[in-house]
Amino acid sequence: MPSQLYIDGKWRDPAQGGRFDTVDPATERVLQQVPMATAEDIDLAVAAARRAFDDGWGKTSGAERAVFIEALADDLEARQDELATLEVRDNGKPLPEAQWDIGDAIGCFRYYAGLARELDERQDEALALPDERFRCRIRYEPVGVAGQIIPWNFPLLMLAWKVAPALAAGATCVLKPSELTPLTALELAAAADRSGLPAGVLNVVTGLGGEAGGPLSRHPLVDKLAFTGSVPTGTRIMSAAAADIKNISLELGGKSAFVVFDDSDVEAAVEWIMFGIFWNQGQVCSATSRLLVQEGIADRLLERLVEAARAITIGNGLEPGVLLGPLVSRSQYEKVTGFVQRGQSGEARLLTGGRRPAHLNDGYFLEPTIFDEPSEDSTLWREEIFGPVLCVKRFRTEAEALAMANDSRFGLAAAVMSADGDRAARVADGLRAGIVWINCSQPTFTEAPWGGMKQSGIGRELGRWGLENYLEVKQVTEYRSAQPWGWYLKP
Ligand code: NAD
Repeated sequence: MPSQLYIDGKWRDPAQGGRFDTVDPATERVLQQVPMATAEDIDLAVAAARRAFDDGWGKTSGAERAVFIEALADDLEARQDELATLEVRDNGKPLPEAQWDIGDAIGCFRYYAGLARELDERQDEALALPDERFRCRIRYEPVGVAGQIIPWNFPLLMLAWKVAPALAAGATCVLKPSELTPLTALELAAAADRSGLPAGVLNVVTGLGGEAGGPLSRHPLVDKLAFTGSVPTGTRIMSAAAADIKNISLELGGKSAFVVFDDSDVEAAVEWIMFGIFWNQGQVCSATSRLLVQEGIADRLLERLVEAARAITIGNGLEPGVLLGPLVSRSQYEKVTGFVQRGQSGEARLLTGGRRPAHLNDGYFLEPTIFDEPSEDSTLWREEIFGPVLCVKRFRTEAEALAMANDSRFGLAAAVMSADGDRAARVADGLRAGIVWINCSQPTFTEAPWGGMKQSGIGRELGRWGLENYLEVKQVTEYRSAQPWGWYLKP
């Protein structure tokens, strides 16, 4: 298993020699020691990415780059099972979810290989101008060196969402994975090494937020910052980018609403509500963590939801049948249980959960938890908990539901369920969120844009929008008339 930084096509020890532990959240045991990059290593990685960009990668055709991206996908595919198991051990998620993530990550590399090829066809597109003496063509050029900082909730998948479009566009990358889940990023570096990606095109630097992410976000030779993580870190990254006007995209937090009308099928509603909050232990930026349920269906729905939540099998993600693993770390466990304690001390009524499962002594496990009727100004209702904690409120009318759903500083995702298609479409159009699901919650496709409004971020990943993140648009305008221009020098 790789245990060095990957810089300029070589494995190297960190300049200061530091290392940190990555821990299996199901057992609380150290999995591996990981190199701790500091500013000196970031300097080397950025310089390597700069050289790789200027010397060649930035000038390659999309078709040439597609070959390398597909080779990376092939390498990951050949080791899919091993990578899924590693993701479970580093992050805690149930194995079937990790398998899903790795499959999606591979699909993401293949998709952007396709878009790299299409990019060649889009180059030099003619733009009609109102003055026929001029001809204009449009070129799409890579943004340069991309500094990419990612979180721990979908380690390899978040990496793919950033690295695949950047490579497709012709940018070079310095990637810093989360210190909580760095292992599959090091495996990607090993795949890049094996698949012959030119030196410096992809650099992977493991390290802590302030010590490695900070210098990367401030580095003057970085052209683009792509960040996924929390709002407070996003604010820091945005300030760093402002200093020299770096191109920036931010995918931040959420507190997304799921609106269920009383003509919905109870079983279908329960299934999607659970998928929306218990998948990945609720550690999902788009988790539909606020349930708004219409009064006519509320009692029946909640009774069934509580029953189904209690039936979820909790345990080590590697054990068969487990659908809820541990939270990612001790600090995340403490943060989430802190919210639960607030809820229990008067902010809301606990319907189920809120405790460590009795049969699990080690690991950061928490039962699926549901709170009823927190007040609209409570922390529980307004803040992102990022754990398996659902908060429920009732509504009477469509207008009331929409107002409650939109009353948030976040605007990442939302979901609506109703048997009335017109009503569902109307509510979907009224929701202030970048992603809206109708009659489901969470299904995510590489082809469709991903990102939020308000404090949930800036820009969109995935689909063709993800590629645009790493492209500069250039106009080349040519004067073609035989007649002189004749402004200063009269003919
Ligand atoms: P975080 O902000 O604590 O850390 C994210 C990354 O930033 C990590 O790699 C961390 O090391 C780095 N970092 C921390 N401090 C830094 C600094 N000062 N300078 C530069 N880098 C720094 O977030 P997290 O706890 O890893 O992830 C959870 C958050 O991510 C949640 O808020 C969640 O909603 C959000 N998220 C959003 C999306 C999305 O697509 N919108 C996806 C996944 C997660």
